[in-house]
Amino acid sequence: MTRRERKKLQREEFVRENGLICLENVSKSYSTGSPALNGVSLSIKPGEFVFIVGDSGSGKSTLIRLLLRELIATSGNVWVKGHNLNKLRHREIPKFRRNLGIVFQDFRLLNDRNVYENVAFAQRVVQVPGREIRRNVPSILATVGLAGKYKAKTKQLSGGEQQRVALARALVNRPSILLADEPTGNLDPKNSWEIMKLLEEINESGTTVVVVTHNREIVNAMQKRVITMRKGVIISDEEGGIYIDED
Ligand code: ADP
Ligand code: MG
Repeated sequence: MTRRERKKLQREEFVRENGLICLENVSKSYSTGSPALNGVSLSIKPGEFVFIVGDSGSGKSTLIRLLLRELIATSGNVWVKGHNLNKLRHREIPKFRRNLGIVFQDFRLLNDRNVYENVAFAQRVVQVPGREIRRNVPSILATVGLAGKYKAKTKQLSGGEQQRVALARALVNRPSILLADEPTGNLDPKNSWEIMKLLEEINESGTTVVVVTHNREIVNAMQKRVITMRKGVIISDEEGGIYIDED
């Protein structure tokens, strides 16, 4: 067995035992203020759908940014897909991030490009051959219900449609984990539901999905695992949970 094969097996074994996402007593302090995360431990198994809820400032986005390896924990360990992110080398980060798809509240699209280009771009940066891009992009746009809009400039789209483009872009490289930080924060109730239903479908087809949200009605209706944060700690973690009041 080569060294690389052995490492891969070790990562797979770690995931089986500890989860696809695993935080072990993680704290994160910025230069000012009290810690944004304070002793957080959690494990998310492959194929789970998890909501993360809590007051503004409770540390939800900090947690997402640690998983993306945009931030490094001040103490404790963060493991994603068997990689210890504290030990990940800089040159390993781009390849590691291919395991993750991410969507944000404000879509973050390239507004001078059309829908097709926004999604194709994500494939070009990881050097997918053109032939495959021309096959993958229409297919993922159909999945998010935008097959007919591929030529539209993103600014001509509704908020809900823009978030679908962002979702297609996040998914086109087939990540094993989809992270969404308040994906419906800028959407009306109808579009919010449509995006959440899409996230559920994506989860049902095998992707692990982690959604930060303030949408109480949707959290209560969808009956998923709900992790509630307050002031940098997890105050509850319930299967089939509900949105807990903040006061
Ligand atoms: P949430 O996403 O739950 O609203 P955040 O993770 O964004 O919470 O923030 C948690 C805490 O960390 C807040 O007190 C916030 O002010 C602080 N914080 C977040 N980002 C930074 C930063 N880049 N520099 C300093 N403090 C930050
Ligand atoms: Mg946030």
